[in-house]
Parts: sequence; structure tokens; C-alpha cells
Amino acid sequence: MTKDRINKIIDECKDKESLSQLLAKLNKESEEIPKEAVRKLSKRLNVPASEIQRLQEINRLEQEFLKGTKDEEIGVHSDLFSARSNIDGQDGGVASTLLVSGIESGSFDAAIVVTRRKGYDAEAAIARNRNEVIAARGTKYLRVRTTPKLKELTSKGIKKIAIIGTPCEVLTARKIQQTIKRETPDAKIAIIGLFCMEAFNRDKLKEEITRLLAVDIDKSDKTQIRKGVFTVKIGEKEYSCKVKELNNAVEKACHYCKDFSARLADISIGSAGAPKGYSTVVVRSKTGEKLLKNMKTAKAEVEKDEIARLSKFKRERAERNLDLLNQKAAKKTE
Ligand SMILES: Cc1cc2nc3c(=O)[nH]c(=O)nc-3n(C[C@H](O)[C@H](O)[C@H](O)COP(=O)(O)OP(=O)(O)OC[C@H]3O[C@@H](n4cnc5c(N)ncnc54)[C@H](O)[C@@H]3O)c2cc1C
Ligand code: SF4
Repeated sequence: MTKDRINKIIDECKDKESLSQLLAKLNKESEEIPKEAVRKLSKRLNVPASEIQRLQEINRLEQEFLKGTKDEEIGVHSDLFSARSNIDGQDGGVASTLLVSGIESGSFDAAIVVTRRKGYDAEAAIARNRNEVIAARGTKYLRVRTTPKLKELTSKGIKKIAIIGTPCEVLTARKIQQTIKRETPDAKIAIIGLFCMEAFNRDKLKEEITRLLAVDIDKSDKTQIRKGVFTVKIGEKEYSCKVKELNNAVEKACHYCKDFSARLADISIGSAGAPKGYSTVVVRSKTGEKLLKNMKTAKAEVEKDEIARLSKFKRERAERNLDLLNQKAAKKTE
């Protein structure tokens, strides 16, 4: 693309809202936006150059892997519904059902999941059959790195893999997939993303739950966040507090994270927008569409506005926190 053409397109970008569309347009026509153009945009819109580069990378990944219409808050998707399966999962059990049906139909040889370790600790694990997937069901509200297992499996020559993760891990998984695609073109990776407002530091969460609810989270059978309330279930008893009260235990990185709905996944799953006991399902790619074909679920309506509202809330919260961080850094250098 010529310099004149790039400048003309950039001149059309008058505000931050049209930045994402502009980058998509540029990505379609050019391999790389010249640094000079990034600097010009950054100055005009008062957006850090690093943010423009981040958005550009996301746009590229969307164009390479996803299919559907792009909603500014929810991201690219071709279908959005809520569903419930016969697996008793965190919400509608859809995440586990997708993995089981993928393994049983031969779409995956292995699935990367998250299992509970001792107490409320958790770690990434590899599941190769129905029982192993079901043993890993349920949300652990911790930031768990699942992507190292992706490298581990591909280095062993395993080519059909499903990976589940929070939006931050989904982004990493997509980047790894780009490399895998180059090195092993016949590899098939399916990325299942979970909605995520925040995750907690395990030790601090244990401390806060003991202080607020006088129970030991290590003994919990299930934890659940719904409509701003954190609930710990131990046997038949439930203990709840507001998620806001756990702010001290939130992982630092989560304060600056803008992605609620795992925008780069093949399928994103959460509870927001779905009736109680159902999972919200966002289908974002051909791979996602194929995975759903073999799956038996009961479908229901979804509140799309609620997902958009939470996505916007998380994005704006991160922007405010990043502004504060930049202001602090600027003061230090004064
Ligand atoms: C840290 C975190 C925060 C979340 N916050 C929200 C939220 O704010 N709003 C919302 O609507 N939904 C949120 N979710 C998603 C929600 O809790 C459910 O995981 C989702 O609805 C899927 O439910 P299910 O019944 O289909 O899952 P299940 O069938 O029970 O399967 C859950 C799958 O997730 C995997 N898993 C569990 N913990 C983790 C983890 N820490 N990292 C990666 N994989 C994991 C399990 O191994 C299992 O495969 C969050 C999830 C996590 C992990
Ligand atoms: S809030 Fe963001 S950084 Fe934190 S666990 Fe969720 S996706 Fe990862």
C-alpha cells in the first residue's frame, strides 16, 4: 500500500471509536502499518502507540482465525445463544460437553483443562477421555496458565488439541497457534474461551474468605460468581459475599485487562446473559461451528445486552486503571 493511501485512510479516522475499523481496513490491505503512521495516529487520537499495535495484532488474529460479524463490545461472532447439557458443570456444563463430544468424535486427541490440586489450588492438566474431562469440570476463579501444555502436547507430536482458557490465555494460545500453523500445517487446535471479569490470587482469596465468611475455601465443593455475588458451597451450606469485597485478592494484571468475552476464541462460554443453570455460548469461527455440530444441548434465549454491558464495563475499568498508572509513571519522571 502506498504512503498516500495509508495517509488518506488515517485522515478518515477522527476518533477512538473508529480506530478498530480503521485498523481492520489497513490490515486487509497491508502487511504492516508503518511506524510513522502509528505515531501520527497515536498523536491525533491521544492513544498510546502500544495500544494501537495491540489493536492491530488483535485485528490480524481476528481476520486470520475468526468468522462472523463484528460487534464492538462482544467481538466477531456468527451465533450467540444459551444452552444446557446433561453434564452437571459450573453453569450449563457446555464447556465439558464440548470437550467430551470432541474427544468421543475424534475431533481432539487431547483436551487441556484445569483441575483442582490440594485445597482451592488449581493447575492445567491433560484430559484424554470423558472421565478426565468431567473430573475437571467447574470454575476455579484463579488465573491458571493453560498454554504451556499446548507446547508440551505439540512437541510430542499430538496434532488434534482442544484448549480451554481465560481471555488472556486465549490470546496467548492464538499466538502459539500461528507458529504451530507454520511448523505443522495439519495440526488442528480448538480454543474454548471462558468469560472472565477477574481472577484471584489463591492465598489472598483464602485469607479474604476466612476474614469475611469465616470458612476455609480449601474445603469448598464449588465456588460461584453470579450477579456480583461470590458464593462458597461446602456440603449443603452456602456462604456469600459481594465480589467487590474481594478486591484486595484480585490478580494485579486483571485490573488492566480489557477482554471479558474471550474475543479470540473459537467458542466463548460464560454465565452472563444466560438463565440460571445455562451457559452463554458465542460461536466465533468455522472450528467453533464444527464443534457444536455433534453436541446435544437444550437451547434458550440469551441477553446479548448484558454481555455487551459487562464487556464495556471491563474495558472502561481497564482504561481508567491504565490512565492512572500512566499518570503515576509520568509524575515519577517529572
Ligand atoms: C477466572 C474465571 C472468571 C470467570 N468470570 C466469569 C464472569 O465474570 N462472568 C461469566 O459469565 N463467566 C465467568 N467465568 C466463566 C464461568 O464461570 C464458567 O466457567 C463458564 O460459564 C462455563 O460453564 P460450564 O458449566 O459450561 O463449564 P464446565 O462444564 O463446568 O467446565 C468448565 C471448564 O473450565 C475449566 N476451568 C476451570 N477453571 C479454569 C481456569 N481458572 N482457567 C481455565 N479453565 C478453567 C475446567 O477445566 C472445565 O473444563 C469465569 C471463569 C473463570 C475461570
Ligand atoms: S481478567 Fe484478564 S488477565 Fe485476569 S484472568 Fe481474566 S482474562 Fe486473564
